[in-house]
Amino acid sequence: MEIQNLSNEQLHERLAVLTEKYNSYKSLGLKLDMSRGKPGADQLELTNEMLDPALLGDYKASNGFDVRNYGILDGIPECKQLFADILGVKPENTIVFGNASLTIMYDYISQCMVFGAGAEPWAAQSGIKFLCPVPGYDRHFAILEQFGIEMINIPTNAEGPDMDMIDELIKDEKVKGVICVPMYSNPSGNTYSDETVRRFAALKPAAKDFRVIWDNAYCVHHVNETHDVLLNIFDIAKEYGSEDFFIEVTSTSKITFPGAGVSVLAASDKNIADIKKRMTVQTIGYDKINQLRHANYLKNLAGVEAHMLKHAAILKPKFDAVLEAFGKNLAGKGIAEWTVPNGGYFISLDVYAGCAKKTVALCKEAGVTLTGAGATYPYGKDPEDKNIRIAPTFPSRDELCKAVEILCLCVEIAAIEKILG
Ligand code: PLP
Repeated sequence: MEIQNLSNEQLHERLAVLTEKYNSYKSLGLKLDMSRGKPGADQLELTNEMLDPALLGDYKASNGFDVRNYGILDGIPECKQLFADILGVKPENTIVFGNASLTIMYDYISQCMVFGAGAEPWAAQSGIKFLCPVPGYDRHFAILEQFGIEMINIPTNAEGPDMDMIDELIKDEKVKGVICVPMYSNPSGNTYSDETVRRFAALKPAAKDFRVIWDNAYCVHHVNETHDVLLNIFDIAKEYGSEDFFIEVTSTSKITFPGAGVSVLAASDKNIADIKKRMTVQTIGYDKINQLRHANYLKNLAGVEAHMLKHAAILKPKFDAVLEAFGKNLAGKGIAEWTVPNGGYFISLDVYAGCAKKTVALCKEAGVTLTGAGATYPYGKDPEDKNIRIAPTFPSRDELCKAVEILCLCVEIAAIEKILG
């Protein structure tokens, strides 16, 4: 029964029962962390063989280059090929970077600020803006905020962002771009529909120096056997002549080791040439030993897919545990909605409007740490105070089950308290 339909007396009775349960959990002094999208220790174990020194052979890349030495700006050939196969682009349209795609994005935006993206430097054009599909990834928003770029929320649904709104807003030449996660998005786990990808490719921005940061962090991160398929943005952009708008990034952070993986940028011929030109001043080349280790270990797309199945086997029971608990404790009460992703690292939970902060605080008091309420919106401001990002990957399944049970209690307590006023 929907909670809003209960009488005040029934609500008070229900609250008393829930509070008693909550207090008994609180007295256990639990310490459960569902705050960040990190792989669990068992997932890290999956890739240990990659640390075998024998994997580096004679330290030679496929072009005979000694990976222990300086050189090769844009990545060893086999690593470029591996990422090209993952992203469905040509190796020459990739640049292999260091251990984090976040650094690529930060650096790209930073260079647009200083040097521009084919026009006046962004920093010299006052009042520039970016469109941010919400809920989204807090670290994207942190980058834009740090550079003083105004962020505009774009609501999303299961198909992706509101493209009508984007079409309208890009008529303003101060709008320089969009930052988004097109596949198994952080935090919804939704994948952009074919129609959405086509509409991105067809964008007609007023700004000549417009860029879409297409953060494809979860491109091979299926959890369910039935998985999502994302159209290849560069294939479609070619039809519209809009390839220069797109900067795609991904990394092996959640394939091999976060913080010790390899990242990549894919872009048009023109953008690759511009980026490489600037890079020659910045570095002689990134860590090719790690590139060779990754290429030799993962081998090819089939190797990556086989490896991701092992991750999925660990992750699926965790996603299922959260979704089962939500179904059992929250369904039909009119106080919460959540996504049911086929992959990625997150589930997005919308609680009763005005209750996300309270829910997160109640969880914290009972020893369950969640991603901060508001984190999924620019400036940390969720206008309806209702979205909470659920990260089920790091805790063990037992810990997770306990944490979600407590979370569901807190969702209901916060909603009842709100309704009672
Ligand atoms: N992009 C998204 C959407 C993420 O969720 C994350 C990590 O959670 C990252 C990028 C960070 O990736 P990397 O480790 O390559 O910097």
